[in-house]
Amino acid sequence: MNSYLEKVLNEVKIKNHNEPEYIQAVEEVLSTIERVIDKHPEYENLAILERMVEPERLITFRVPYINDEGKTIVNRGYRVQFNSLIGPYKGGLRFHPSVNQSIMKFLGFEQIFKNALTGLPIGGGKGGSDFDPKGKSDNEIMKFCQSFMTELQRHIGQDVDVPAGDIGVGAREIGYLFGQYKRIKNAYEGGVLTGKGLSYGGSLARKEATGFGLVYFMREMLGANNLNLNGKTVLISGSGNVAIYACQKAQELGAKVVAMSDSKGCVYDKDGIDLALMKQIKEVERGRISEYAKRKSGVEYMETTSADAPIWTIKADIALPCATQNEVTLNSAKSLVENGVIAIGEGANMPCTKEATDYFLEKGILVAPAKAANAGGVATSAIEMSQNSMRYYLTFEEVDAKLERIMINIFKSCQKASEEYGMDKNYVAGANIASFTKLAEAMIAQGVV
Ligand code: NDP
Repeated sequence: MNSYLEKVLNEVKIKNHNEPEYIQAVEEVLSTIERVIDKHPEYENLAILERMVEPERLITFRVPYINDEGKTIVNRGYRVQFNSLIGPYKGGLRFHPSVNQSIMKFLGFEQIFKNALTGLPIGGGKGGSDFDPKGKSDNEIMKFCQSFMTELQRHIGQDVDVPAGDIGVGAREIGYLFGQYKRIKNAYEGGVLTGKGLSYGGSLARKEATGFGLVYFMREMLGANNLNLNGKTVLISGSGNVAIYACQKAQELGAKVVAMSDSKGCVYDKDGIDLALMKQIKEVERGRISEYAKRKSGVEYMETTSADAPIWTIKADIALPCATQNEVTLNSAKSLVENGVIAIGEGANMPCTKEATDYFLEKGILVAPAKAANAGGVATSAIEMSQNSMRYYLTFEEVDAKLERIMINIFKSCQKASEEYGMDKNYVAGANIASFTKLAEAMIAQGVV
């Protein structure tokens, strides 16, 4: 790392010393853009990096609600409005007990670069709460969402900041949030939230977009390396929104998905995952993945008992981590490589630890980085916003075709940047360089703001 990068990283470490995920996300970007910084010594005087790593605004707020037993519960809400250089702040809301400022900032920081890669006019933001939707009644979820939005509404708007879903925030939560926003504002501002239900302004193919986009990116990356998906065995961690639709598209393109997971464990189904059964358990019944092994014969269930999730010990050609951050440890990376994995596609945000990513790259494994590979979700959210503005809806096929085109273009940008800076096939660096150079240009053009 050159001296400017080192100086900024040290400052980030000192100022945010209790935010390990945020430091990890910054380090991951800074460690890949040295050649860009060398080429542009003027960036230091303009404090491009210092401005990039400081959120424009970080809001935290109290979220009280009364549970079904009549007890008052208080959670903490967040919205990080990180960067509005190229469009309104845009990024999901996460409801999970692990949510804290570090996780919000790492997600918001990643989002800036991801959104820049889509080629669409969206800035970066993220939000959420340490509220745990698991085990709560619909009534409690609704009351929590209404309380959360009662505060959040003063900070967002369709041209200001546009939240969407993430872990723990799906169609049900977005519906309650939208209803409360509309009630307070007394106006239908369709584009203020994305991931909406189809009956009140959502986009066809938004639900499928992140998973489908991940697999389109994987197909492009394999194709550029004279490989393909057909007949390959695939591991997919998670069994939420991203994982389920990654599974669907991988199967449609001829791959065999042999394992999926949740936070408690994984199922290994040598015959290939029965997606209809998985959707029934996860989307309809909101049950545990262990149910899958109980209902289908010949399926092995392995419980997660440490940070090294058992799914990564299964032999397969391709791994798609689609659950959460840092779920692929160095040990897991070693097991995957030992078992002959050829490519990793990050569906979740920052699912591989820095050590795991470095190990994959060192071993010549193709890595599709989250910023690029899971950008299909936010890209389709931006397409949802344009449909809301047009007051006109596209068909599923039209949205899917746009998504596919965007993913192809994102792959090409990563490929081009990695080649231009002499880091051929390192798409992690390619994604960071392509997005960083675009943002730096916009920052210089807009002056010191
Ligand atoms: P969901 O809430 O729909 O699903 C999350 C899945 O991950 C569940 O199966 C959950 O299991 C599992 N999971 C959560 N925490 C852990 C953990 N600590 N260890 C193992 N498994 C865990 O979320 P999404 O599918 O929407 O999001 C998944 C990832 O994709 C996140 O990193 C998110 O930021 C990212 N992403 C999502 C986008 C979207 O459009 N939804 C867009 C871009 C990125 P359990 O039910 O047991 O908790």
